[in-house]
Amino acid sequence: MEALTRTGSRGKAMTSYHGPHVPTRPEPDAKALTWRPGLRWTDRERVRAHSCSCRGVVYEFVGAAGQYFIRRTTLQTGVIEETDRMRSLRAEQTWADLFAGRVY
Ligand SMILES: [Zn+2]
Repeated sequence: MEALTRTGSRGKAMTSYHGPHVPTRPEPDAKALTWRPGLRWTDRERVRAHSCSCRGVVYEFVGAAGQYFIRRTTLQTGVIEETDRMRSLRAEQTWADLFAGRVY
């Protein structure tokens, strides 16, 4: 099992045996993302990364037809939400910001 690694400073994704976490509380000046009702999953999309699911919400970084978005699934309710489609560079920045608590 991989060693549990924790960092004291915010803004760094914590690595552990069960995967990275999105902070429960975003930074005070964090920006709100627009979350829309999730569409049906298609076989054209590919999940490139995902957060740990132990806190009941899973975030996935999804690529589909050359565009990217983040999907948020609340496990208890089964609610699926998605961001707007983005180009890869912006999507990767948004994904990093999510784990750093800069967006929510
Ligand atoms: Zn976890």
